[in-house]
Amino acid sequence: MRRVTIVCPAGGIGGARFISGLLRHLARANRQDEVIVIANTADDIRILGLQVCPDLDTLMYTLGGGISKERGWGREGETWQVKDELQSYEFGPTWFGLGDRDLATHLVRTSMLDAGFTLTEVTHALCQRWNPGVTLLPMSDDRVETHVVVEDDQGRRAIHFQEWWIRHRAALPALSFPIIGIETSRPTAQVLTAIAEANVILLPPSNPVVSIGTIMSVPGMREALASATAPVVGVSPIIGGKPVRGMADACLSAIDVATTAAGVAEHYGPRTAGGLLDAWLIDETDAAAQAEITALGIRTVVQPTLMIDDDAAANLAAAALDTAESLR
Ligand code: GDP
Ligand code: CA
Repeated sequence: MRRVTIVCPAGGIGGARFISGLLRHLARANRQDEVIVIANTADDIRILGLQVCPDLDTLMYTLGGGISKERGWGREGETWQVKDELQSYEFGPTWFGLGDRDLATHLVRTSMLDAGFTLTEVTHALCQRWNPGVTLLPMSDDRVETHVVVEDDQGRRAIHFQEWWIRHRAALPALSFPIIGIETSRPTAQVLTAIAEANVILLPPSNPVVSIGTIMSVPGMREALASATAPVVGVSPIIGGKPVRGMADACLSAIDVATTAAGVAEHYGPRTAGGLLDAWLIDETDAAAQAEITALGIRTVVQPTLMIDDDAAANLAAAALDTAESLR
């Protein structure tokens, strides 16, 4: 079989589980295809002088076998001595989990960035240790950060996305998601080449607003996707009107998109009309929405999409890949 290049723009946990399933499927099928992941970096945050890239790290640790299985982020076997010491000084944000092992990653990254390496180069260096089995690329080497405009009894203000997501559990009503620095950001040359040369593009079930949405907001990214020759197949992160994990509903309602498989499909739009999707995988629970989504001009495949274990994730990735290959 011909070796194909599969490109996946991805967020953290949903992206990592799906791509892990994809690698499992490729290994099962004895295929040697190349997988290139374009990671969201708009979740990034500078904390205590350290550049933290949550989605890059979730992808790298998950695919490299170092993720905490229980939490789904950060390192397995983590300890929290530095965090406890900082707390004794009553210093630093206590709501952001910086474990001792994880800190080493941020120290290496920040030191290398300060020395003048790009985030793409730093990620490559970190991956020398983790061997994630994919080429892991940040969406951009430019610093961009999602903020959230919220309003409560303290008035209207913008806070960092991480503060909204972790500290407030997305419970403060969001008015909008300004992405600081996005206008002047650019996709990297590696990202543009990957998209142009892709044989298949798969959108994992990542958050449509603050993962896939931010990646697509980098100027030039949508145009690159529009002119790609590869089919684009996405997986719905919404099952039965709810996100599987996390608070994507709070993000979708802020931008007036229904938290349904059809709502997200319509938001992404058919590629034939300037949107993102050639095909969309929805869960069996949402089978009744198939006709409505098909009518948008998006091929719709009904499939179990809950990644309850490694095999389920591999089967889901296999279905996405089969759909893409039937479109090529
Ligand atoms: P984050 O950056 O860590 O928030 O992760 P992503 O943006 O990559 O993915 C988050 C999304 O993954 C959430 O909106 C979930 O609904 C979705 N998700 C998580 N697990 C599953 C699953 O098993 N199946 C599907 N279809 N979606 C999932
Ligand atoms: Ca994220």
